Amino acid sequence: MKLQFVPAPALWQPERYHYAAEQMMLTLFPGERPEYPPETLHMVEGEENGARFALEREGDTARLTAQVCWQGRQARGEDAFPAGELDAPPERAYHVVQHALKMAFYRAGTALLGKEPPWGALTGVRPVKLPTRSMEQGASPRQAREELEREYRVSPVRSQLALDCAQASLAVKSTLKPHEVSVYVGIPFCPTRCAYCSFVSADVGRTLKLVEPYLEGVLEEVAATGRALREAGLTVRSFYMGGGTPTTLSAPQMDRLLTACREGLPLEGCTEYTVEAGRPDTINREKLEVLKGHGIGRISINPQTLEEEVLVAIGRKHSPQDILDAYALAREVGFACINMDLIAGLPRDSFSGFCRSLEGVLALGAENVTVHTLALKKGSTLMERGDLLPAGGEVEEMLSFSLNTLRGAGYVPYYLYRQKYMSGSLENVGWTKPGLESLYNIVMMEELQTVVSIGGGGVTKLVSPDGRRILRLPNPKYPHDYLASREKVLAQKGEIAAFYAGH
Ligand code: SF4
Repeated sequence: MKLQFVPAPALWQPERYHYAAEQMMLTLFPGERPEYPPETLHMVEGEENGARFALEREGDTARLTAQVCWQGRQARGEDAFPAGELDAPPERAYHVVQHALKMAFYRAGTALLGKEPPWGALTGVRPVKLPTRSMEQGASPRQAREELEREYRVSPVRSQLALDCAQASLAVKSTLKPHEVSVYVGIPFCPTRCAYCSFVSADVGRTLKLVEPYLEGVLEEVAATGRALREAGLTVRSFYMGGGTPTTLSAPQMDRLLTACREGLPLEGCTEYTVEAGRPDTINREKLEVLKGHGIGRISINPQTLEEEVLVAIGRKHSPQDILDAYALAREVGFACINMDLIAGLPRDSFSGFCRSLEGVLALGAENVTVHTLALKKGSTLMERGDLLPAGGEVEEMLSFSLNTLRGAGYVPYYLYRQKYMSGSLENVGWTKPGLESLYNIVMMEELQTVVSIGGGGVTKLVSPDGRRILRLPNPKYPHDYLASREKVLAQKGEIAAFYAGH
């Protein structure tokens, strides 16, 4: 889609708003990609898809207009605000203009589409931050919800979802202490690669020889992290091992890693230990007993689907029965909190197939259920095979079914996030039986607390105690690069103490 900004140098610097326009374009017209033609767009009906934005000041009012052409039809949207906002401090003025641009584009776009997306004009990854901030500034839950619906045109179902998660976030925030952080350990290996995967995870069949050196690197980083945290006077509140699939490690390897974590990290105040056991084809009794023996209280066993045909289509080499067996084994070993992930929108899935999968997971009695919406990204083999995917409308029905069914079964939503290129512009939601939510998922998603990452593909996010500053320190993505940069990775841990000393 061609995007053009009418120049008005005294009023705005259009380049600053490219990102906002692109975000709204992806929300309304997901298949489109932005272009910025040098020639003027005349926006005549029947011309190519395009959007033209103009900002004008007339007396006390500023007006942002969007002229949008889509599949031969044209519509105009506008958003007006007090002209005095243009003279506000630059950051404030930028946000006001950005919001007006999105709303003008949204009004024109939805007029052409004849419908509004579930999240309205909200384009960010973390929609929960808005109601959280509103309530922190004194709004009642009802006012926070109404603001989402009024200012961003969010649907009532989604505003309730965001509000529930905001309340869970505020409840957790009130328990956090300034000297606490969370720790993430990444094991970017999997037994095989799923068709929809865009993570850095390496197929262990081809990278087996890297696992042992990688583990050695992680053990060294665990020790360095422990020293850095103690030097900064920090302790660990929650511990999370993800991937990839951490249980790709053998039982002795997992034992070495968890022993190193217990000995190296300041875990004396840690209240939550999670390990993603992920794929059933990596789970056996010996590994589960190692996890249990090290005090891991929460594990994930992620079916994604319980439909045989869908498992084949995503490249899994196990059956639905293997998932049920892994779950039963985990209960037998004594795990009292199990999360199960499902994905809506997988290839060869259907509304009825998704419903069967969700009902199957609920019948098992998982304490946490995370419902993802398929997001296709570069790097996933599915990107090329869109014909196998259920339609966006069907995915929306799956999500609606999950909302109603999980609420009906007594689960509550406690964290959510959205991604680019997500089917139907929907969301990923973590659900929990009351009181069993994962603190790590909330603090990580809502950026409430520092998360120190260890291992390839992880990003340490240092959050200042007042929450106003976030410093990102990424580790190299791929195991090979991680190993090649060990010294840099270890040296980077020194920044933790420096960051906290500055706050
Ligand atoms: S289990 Fe997860 S990380 Fe591993 S290949 Fe599949 S989607 Fe990727």
